[in-house]
Amino acid sequence: MAAESGLKLDREFDAVVVGAGPNGLVAAATLGIAGWRVLLVEAGPEVGGGTRSEPLTLPGFVHDVCSAIHPLGAASPAMRSLPLAEHGLEWIHPDMPLAHPLDGGRLARLERGVDATAAGLGADGRAYRRLVRPFVDSGTALIDGLMSPLDLPPRHPLLLARYGAVGVLPATFVARRFHTDEAAALFSGLAAHSILSLRAPVTTGFGLFLGVLAHSVGWPMAKGGSAAIADALAAIVRANGGAIVCDHRVTSLRDLPPARATLLDLTPRQVLGIDDGRLPARYRRTLERFRYGPGVFKIDWALDGPVPWTNPAAARAATVHLGGTGAEIAASEGDVQRGRIPDRPFTLFVQPSSFDPTRAPAGKHTGWAYCHVPHGSTADMTDAIERQVERFAPGFRDQVLARHTMGPAEMEAHNANYVGGDINGGKSDLRQFFARPRLSLHPWATPTRGLYLCSSSTPPGGGVHGMCGWNAAKLVLRREG
Ligand SMILES: Cc1cc2nc3c(=O)[nH]c(=O)nc-3n(C[C@H](O)[C@H](O)[C@H](O)COP(=O)(O)OP(=O)(O)OC[C@H]3O[C@@H](n4cnc5c(N)ncnc54)[C@H](O)[C@@H]3O)c2cc1C
Repeated sequence: MAAESGLKLDREFDAVVVGAGPNGLVAAATLGIAGWRVLLVEAGPEVGGGTRSEPLTLPGFVHDVCSAIHPLGAASPAMRSLPLAEHGLEWIHPDMPLAHPLDGGRLARLERGVDATAAGLGADGRAYRRLVRPFVDSGTALIDGLMSPLDLPPRHPLLLARYGAVGVLPATFVARRFHTDEAAALFSGLAAHSILSLRAPVTTGFGLFLGVLAHSVGWPMAKGGSAAIADALAAIVRANGGAIVCDHRVTSLRDLPPARATLLDLTPRQVLGIDDGRLPARYRRTLERFRYGPGVFKIDWALDGPVPWTNPAAARAATVHLGGTGAEIAASEGDVQRGRIPDRPFTLFVQPSSFDPTRAPAGKHTGWAYCHVPHGSTADMTDAIERQVERFAPGFRDQVLARHTMGPAEMEAHNANYVGGDINGGKSDLRQFFARPRLSLHPWATPTRGLYLCSSSTPPGGGVHGMCGWNAAKLVLRREG
């Protein structure tokens, strides 16, 4: 997508946004729609941050460099408020949100319907229904509450309290209550998206929320690649008079044009790096104490054909969790937290081209996968990840035409926000769910007048939902408007 190049300062701006990830884009779009003149400055050659797509392997193959599957995007009140479809965004829903193969050709299935999912969980069907049903039946109430966790008074306090009472538990506690391998594995895989030890508090909350989203909004992908989300957001920014400058890394706040508000789609480490002395020492110390989480190792494949799953029903889902039983997944995530390389890493696998033919030449396919690794790890996980795929799809390696890998260092080089390979803008444990980056009713505001944070290092945290940018922009409009 064409962008203006070089910092053009011949216009005046009401707001400057640094970083064009989904949060920066949503913040810029929201301010633009409110009539503000917005400048959006991005270090990379294109807008998008964690929502970019590139031909990483061979000509004709389109790969999502970072995010691929978007339950959070489809559910997000911020995204729902913006005319994304008018600007070309089309969600593609796979037949089934998630498949989770087990050894021996068994398959746990997260279907769109609660009853259909429960029916596949045998003796655990009733327990599964009891766990998710009240939240699925609440429509968007839980989604809206969790995505704006600091709204006061909370709009659905009883529902949120009920969710919190279960959600605060470690996922291993809930998984142990299931009798079948299928239910325990399915739930553990969902909870492992937290990138925490599954023995840690709030991991049930992550798993439960992703399960609820599968039933209420689905786990879609963007037609043409995740970049379509960023392109639609950028089109909204431009349609509302905003200017976008790519290929410009901001190295000091001093170099930005004056504006009523400056919003940083950056994590605390970069904020400290570009501070020109305007942040008070106490706030700087808070940012210095902010903790980052483990990293990721990612592979993209160009494939000669579809993935040869042992259980062919795995082809119904775009997302396939490869990690075996709940106990195995807990062990893998536990290793990562302890700084060890898991031998059989829990692997998140996506097969986009099975549902979106624009991703690969006719008859060919794309594969996308990553696993968690210790923060800053330099280990090459290619073999370990491919062994996990082969375990449930023997012959997979024979389909590989080309592969592209990225460890934590390459991730961080691609996007400075991925410190040590941490894709969530900071650890999302109980403490940093609320103190993100500090405990405050308005964590998007810094103590410096006119300076705001809008990245996933603010509530509600990681994922392509734009809520951090939306919350920050709404606060800016209230305070500086
Ligand atoms: C491998 C991987 C898989 C993922 N999978 C999913 C998924 O399937 N679904 C999902 O919802 N989420 C997923 N995520 C997470 C998601 O991509 C991020 O949480 C999200 O992009 C965070 O948005 P953001 O706007 O806060 O920051 P980012 O998207 O990180 O954007 C920050 C932007 O700021 C720019 N920037 C940094 N420093 C500067 C500077 N000094 N000057 C100018 N610009 C700067 C960066 O170049 C970047 O474009 C994944 C991430 C990765 C890496």
